[in-house]
Amino acid sequence: MPADDGSTETSPGGVLLRSALLATPLDDLMSQAARRRDDTFGTRITFSPKVFIPLTMLCRDRCGYCTFAKAPARLESPYLGLDEVLAIARAGRAAGCHEALFTLGEGPEDRYPAAAEWLEAHGYTSTVDYLAAACAAVLEETGLLPHANAGALRAADLATLRAVSASQGMMIESTNPDLDAHRSAPDKVPARRLETLEAAGELAIPFTTGLLVGIGESRDDRIDTLEAIAASHARHGHVQEVIVQNFLPKAGTSMHRAEPCPTDEFLWTIAAARLILPTDIHLQAPPNLSDELRPLVDAGIDDWGGVSPVTADHVNPERAWPALGILRAATEAAGHVLAPRLTIYPEFALRPDTWLDPALRFPVLDASDAEGLGRDHPWASGGEFPPPELLGPFVAPDASARPGVVTLASTGGAVAEILTAVVDGHTVDEDEIVTQFGARGPEVRAIAEVADQLRHDIVGDEVTFVANRNINYTNVCTFKCKFCAFSKGPLSLNLRGTPYLLELSEITDRVAEAEAMGATEVCLQGGIHPKFDGDYYLEVIKAVREASPTIHIHGFTALEVTEGARRSELPLADYLILLRDAGLRTIPGTAAEILDDEVRAVICPDKIDTEEWLEAHRTAHSVGLNSNVTIMFGSVEQPRSWARHLVRTRDLQRETGGFTEFVPLPFVHMATPIYIQKKARRGPTFRETVLMHAVGRIAYRGTIDNIQLSWVKMGAAGARQLLRSGVNDLGGTLIDENISRAAGASHGQMMDADSFRALVTPLGRTLAQRTTLYGRVVHPDGHDSVLAGAR
Ligand code: SF4
Repeated sequence: MPADDGSTETSPGGVLLRSALLATPLDDLMSQAARRRDDTFGTRITFSPKVFIPLTMLCRDRCGYCTFAKAPARLESPYLGLDEVLAIARAGRAAGCHEALFTLGEGPEDRYPAAAEWLEAHGYTSTVDYLAAACAAVLEETGLLPHANAGALRAADLATLRAVSASQGMMIESTNPDLDAHRSAPDKVPARRLETLEAAGELAIPFTTGLLVGIGESRDDRIDTLEAIAASHARHGHVQEVIVQNFLPKAGTSMHRAEPCPTDEFLWTIAAARLILPTDIHLQAPPNLSDELRPLVDAGIDDWGGVSPVTADHVNPERAWPALGILRAATEAAGHVLAPRLTIYPEFALRPDTWLDPALRFPVLDASDAEGLGRDHPWASGGEFPPPELLGPFVAPDASARPGVVTLASTGGAVAEILTAVVDGHTVDEDEIVTQFGARGPEVRAIAEVADQLRHDIVGDEVTFVANRNINYTNVCTFKCKFCAFSKGPLSLNLRGTPYLLELSEITDRVAEAEAMGATEVCLQGGIHPKFDGDYYLEVIKAVREASPTIHIHGFTALEVTEGARRSELPLADYLILLRDAGLRTIPGTAAEILDDEVRAVICPDKIDTEEWLEAHRTAHSVGLNSNVTIMFGSVEQPRSWARHLVRTRDLQRETGGFTEFVPLPFVHMATPIYIQKKARRGPTFRETVLMHAVGRIAYRGTIDNIQLSWVKMGAAGARQLLRSGVNDLGGTLIDENISRAAGASHGQMMDADSFRALVTPLGRTLAQRTTLYGRVVHPDGHDSVLAGAR
């Protein structure tokens, strides 16, 4: 009951009491439920792109509302054959699905001889045995993640399926044991279903369950059902989502004359579920069983369930899935954003050791983005698949509009609040950076708009590049970075390819050649060769200077200078002064990877740690050597680590002012040891890549003015969108780029001014050649290939 102060009665734990749930007006209940959803999940509503595989439509139960179950005479075959199963899964894969939802009748072999005979003829001992084989085949052949929905099962069957599926499910439907709808359905006995739910918890199976509303049960019954689910979850933490499904009468069933579930009852149940269930359980209502979607959002759902671009809903064949565009539009019209998920929710996917059989861990990782949601597009950095168009058609910015805030004016939510504050001058903190990295749909466009406006205000409309040459003097390395496809033995993980160490004379020749081609900078980086002592780096500088007294020497990562100092037995500052006096001018930020030791312990455990990287750059800045910030993102880490990286480097920049630019380096996964060993994702998604540049621009406002993209990893189509997301620098022309190519990047080895200009001109921007330190290169005759002046 509402209390005297107008608030609704709650238990000490904050959950609405039964009496309050039953007495609160529906509108109030829905408002409270929606608030609880927003407080927990923000603006995000998920869906699972899936195919629906009806392995068998035979069932030993006869539920009063079901048209899924058929008699053998009405089916061509008791079961789908494996080739039919795989054909559906392959079509799903081609359409971008992640989930193969196996749905089937319960124990048909106990009722129908035809089912038992088919199983025996095909070498299977039971329906569950065949289901396990079909799940394994789909996983192996297509990478789709099976979700097994096989009804009330014994623990042994659940365990068998756990080895071949990423999640399982079974609707409780109702804990009322006395419903006419279930009179002829032995598997719908509530105690049996609750036992299955409990066994799934004991086996650590990420589990989906739910209620069917309007089959004769009361509101009290539904509260009982929800409380039973909540109690099982409290014991095991395994309920990932609860589906609230509305009953619709279907022709050919014993309940065909029954009234459909009244909309108010359905909405009341969704709201009650949100308020009764713990906040870590997701709440779903199927989008194809209601004519209007908005009320379902208003009642508190945060998931639309499986939506198939390929197969029909075989349980409700008369109700087609809404097209994805319609679902997105309805979600956004309700002030939310849509995100694809896997069949296993992120809270479980990100703890694979607890929740997944070892055989499922890589397939889940491989389909995941950094938040443990589903990858939203086949694009991968360095690959050939063109990126999705996230920002819409380019239109020249309207100087009078408040960027981003306009895009989100009708939505609200945490991203909109942060952007409004940013536009008013607010500096984002770590939590706010994490929130921005979770942006989807219009939120991504708004962040890019704000970043683009900041770019315009801070550095104008010029897009810069530097003419440079990479010289990777050796690929032999004593370190064992697991993401590195470049280094070769004796100790490195990647033993393929030929180890080399350039002669110093070769370095001299390459510098001379680069300068003749117009380069103003050489970028020197390589492995840490076991034979190097601290003098080696001085000799490399000398070799460069033999070819050119003036070319800018940008070289030696924090790892290289730290190792050089150690091997010279000199304090780092003294060693850096030696390098500086020999001709070194700036050092690259690479070796930063992710400046978060939890992540470094996984991807580069023997490399310098976060503090050592920061200290190397602090020391370099103190002796007059500028440097830049890089971040290699998209392998194993989550957005929290990205935010820490940005905040830590921003703090150092406030202290020293020595960083010239921020350079996001999307992880190129193809040939890297960590991906080949099935321990990393396939790089960031394109959305994450856009956000890294845009959020970087926002986070570094007032500290680092230049945001650079890596065209080697992005290609032209990707680069164009990044130029609209806060980027003002294209980096180097990079004659001889080896490191990304070693990891599998397919974009070229060199860009020239004309190629760069083709990228920037259509965006109304101008191209300018810069020096390493952002001076302008003057061309005496106006021709791009002739370079002179400041270095
Ligand atoms: S990233 Fe650098 S330090 Fe690590 S293995 Fe590769 S070359 Fe060696």
